[in-house]
Amino acid sequence: MTRSCSAVGCSTRDTVLSRKRGYSFHQFPTDTIQRSKWIRAVNRVDPRSKKIWIPGPSAMLCSKHFHESDFESYGIRRKLKKGAVPSVSLYEVLKSRCSPRCTS
Ligand SMILES: [Zn+2]
Repeated sequence: MTRSCSAVGCSTRDTVLSRKRGYSFHQFPTDTIQRSKWIRAVNRVDPRSKKIWIPGPSAMLCSKHFHESDFESYGIRRKLKKGAVPSVSLYEVLKSRCSPRCTS
């Protein structure tokens, strides 16, 4: 099964191609406070319960949602810094994927 990004409107999938393009994928933190920050940032609603969406064990976000400065590099590998919270383009990604008629 191909894993994909959990952000609303983002459909980046964890494939060889997306890795080649430089995207990385990051699982939700296990730390409760850090995790709730991510959940709030993602701001996703569960369509069934209409409640705030809770990430499952395989939920992850792609690197599009983080600033370059949120990463630490280890050679060709990138790792998120401790305390990094997704802040980038959770909505911009959505907008840029949107067709022109849904901007109004
Ligand atoms: Zn994404």
